[in-house]
Amino acid sequence: MTLLNPGPANTTLSVKLAQVVEDICPREKEFGEVMESIANGLLEFVQGGENPKAVLLSGSGTLAVECAISSALRETHKLAIIVNGAYGQRMEEIASVHGLNFVSFKSDFLQPLDINSIREFLLRERPDFIALIHSETTSGLLNDISAISRIAKEIGAKVIADCMSSYACYEISLDEVDFIIASSNKNIQGMPGVSFVIANEANILEAGNAKSLYLNLKAEYEYFKSTLQMRFTPPVQTLYALNQAIIELKNEGLKRRFERYKANNTLLRQGLQDLGFEIYPKDSFGVIITAIALPDSIDFHCLHAHCKKYGYTIYPGKIAGLHMFRIANIGAITPNDIAGFLRVLKDFIS
Ligand SMILES: *Cc1c(COP(=O)(O)O)cnc(C)c1O
Repeated sequence: MTLLNPGPANTTLSVKLAQVVEDICPREKEFGEVMESIANGLLEFVQGGENPKAVLLSGSGTLAVECAISSALRETHKLAIIVNGAYGQRMEEIASVHGLNFVSFKSDFLQPLDINSIREFLLRERPDFIALIHSETTSGLLNDISAISRIAKEIGAKVIADCMSSYACYEISLDEVDFIIASSNKNIQGMPGVSFVIANEANILEAGNAKSLYLNLKAEYEYFKSTLQMRFTPPVQTLYALNQAIIELKNEGLKRRFERYKANNTLLRQGLQDLGFEIYPKDSFGVIITAIALPDSIDFHCLHAHCKKYGYTIYPGKIAGLHMFRIANIGAITPNDIAGFLRVLKDFIS
């Protein structure tokens, strides 16, 4: 099955097989070495920083976002969330649940961020932290993290970025983002179950404010540093797969992975337009995911069933009130797979 949903993405056979190992207690030294190799390997795909560290967490990407936000902010802190999609809204939910003091900058889900208005907003609100999504999976918008980071520096705020669908494809710098958050099952092409926060050690050591036993970035980091273990049972097989996925990304190289995804995305956008589909966003889109307007005559469930029959899983839209579907072109797939999908789609509409 070719997965055209925005993760979990297709994995290579070697990543799948890496999970099939002799039973092992994760508190054994050999497993600590696997986790150490993962924590170090994840750092190779980000730039900048000072003594950067990756904190491995057991759970899907949302868990790491919740862990980072709730660990970094104290009651006296103020958070500004930039919201232009469902994942920005999820950050608002996290801030609410944790009773944090936050304000939101709301922006259209299909339009590029207006950096001047954001600057005005941030200069007025003076938050201690700014949280945003790098690649908004809701629409495919790629938010301008460098511009936000420059404003953050002006006001002395720290940046928390959900890089779930940009990490391991785009270059991201710890000189621009203080907390980079991602997970094992998107561009890195591993199995679901592990998420992580990458930050300078000093920032992690300051992030001990969570009112949760489990979601505590600083505690998890300190325990790992002294034992090479997670505090609680890790997803052993997912970690073996992630270790292999990191090796494969190192072999392919971040630049070439970006180029492959871009080739997939360019072919996809062109093919969809040739078939007469209206695609979004029109501007500031990344190379990860595309939102496509569905004519009233096409029912998503019928289209989904047709594509699935021929081996392609497509994904529903996520913007309330708009009849859309989405195609992600990430994972262990190539332009050949995209071309195959376009043929199946053409077959359905003709
Ligand atoms: C996938 C994704 C997440 C995490 O979703 P989970 O279901 O918790 O893995 C968070 N943010 C963005 C932008 C994503 O694409």
